[in-house]
Amino acid sequence: MKIPFNRPVLMGDEQRYMADALQRGHVSGDGYYTKAVNARLCELTKSRAGLMTTSCTHAIEMTALLLGVGPGDEIIMPSFTFVSTANAFVLRGAKPVFADVRPDTLNIDERALEAAITPRTKAIVVVHYAGIGCEMDVICETARRRGLAVVEDNAHGLFGGYRGRPLGSFGAFATQSFHETKNVICGEGGALMINDEAFVERAEIIREKGTNRNRFFRGLIDKYTWVEPGSSYLPSDILAAFLWAQLEASARIQERRSAIWTGYHAGLRGWAERTGATLPTVPPDRTQAFHLFYMLLPTTEDRDGLIAHLRANEIGAVFHYVPLHTSEYGRTLGYTDGQLPVTESASERLVRLPLFNDMREDEMQRVIEAVGAFEPRARVGTA
Ligand SMILES: *Cc1c(COP(=O)(O)O)cnc(C)c1O
Repeated sequence: MKIPFNRPVLMGDEQRYMADALQRGHVSGDGYYTKAVNARLCELTKSRAGLMTTSCTHAIEMTALLLGVGPGDEIIMPSFTFVSTANAFVLRGAKPVFADVRPDTLNIDERALEAAITPRTKAIVVVHYAGIGCEMDVICETARRRGLAVVEDNAHGLFGGYRGRPLGSFGAFATQSFHETKNVICGEGGALMINDEAFVERAEIIREKGTNRNRFFRGLIDKYTWVEPGSSYLPSDILAAFLWAQLEASARIQERRSAIWTGYHAGLRGWAERTGATLPTVPPDRTQAFHLFYMLLPTTEDRDGLIAHLRANEIGAVFHYVPLHTSEYGRTLGYTDGQLPVTESASERLVRLPLFNDMREDEMQRVIEAVGAFEPRARVGTA
């Protein structure tokens, strides 16, 4: 591929900071760089507390433990998401209750929540798809009225905002990902952001194998012990050093991503109008995170045709989530085709274009030209 779909990009200081972490002699978790990362993430998301984790998947698992999710509990979430959103709760014996998404943002449809709530519902998990915020006012109000927790799977949403507040600041918890496919990366990594003070101490315990080791290190107790079930969710400080370099460069990263995203949107508008393709919608009260650029083609055939056409031009374009409810495992939970029509239709027609942190203007223009040369079948002969 001349223009890959994604390329992990070093911003410059990663190796220097990783070497410094080695020099400092503290290469396990919660060293100098982990603390710096935690503080920076709290500033960015305006969260009360932040704990870097080994992945976003693990951060979501921590929310399931913190909320005491168990067999018989139900968790409302979109089906149009990554498997980890559901797995974390399924691993605790809970049932994912999939709600459909809105046709404009592909975020969970807040109007579908009331009907999905039962006496067994424990939480609503939202995903800010593509880094464009969900309808947080209605979602938080519904959760408050029905006594449910809100968890933001904010893997796409770091740097995004809703009505002047950062994504990641709305739920009791928000989870971040620094996997190499995200905006800022460290290879594999994540974070748990906590907005409800009452959960901070237990979160530290669960992340430290169920021990109160953190209190011991702070000198609050003279020996540490096992206090509740937990696991090992803290990454090495070497990875935190990598991430720190990326976070320091985040203004540059976001500037480039924004330029590419905006260039795509402007450059493809005419083609989209002519062919019946749909470009992403960003409601005016939202600041987006520029995580990905997607389009919806008129039909699946058109979408597959465009991916093949771009591949022939050595451009990497890809589809996205197979809805969890129609996945092999989703079917074992009793779900069938046709239950979530907006999700199914979007999944079948969606394509993502290349977007990475050092993508050049000429590369963007090449992609726009290649897309512009593609005629969806649905419109052939009707133009
Ligand atoms: C990437 C992603 C995850 C998983 O992140 P990891 O850090 O790889 O565990 C979870 N949810 C969403 C929406 C994601 O995009």
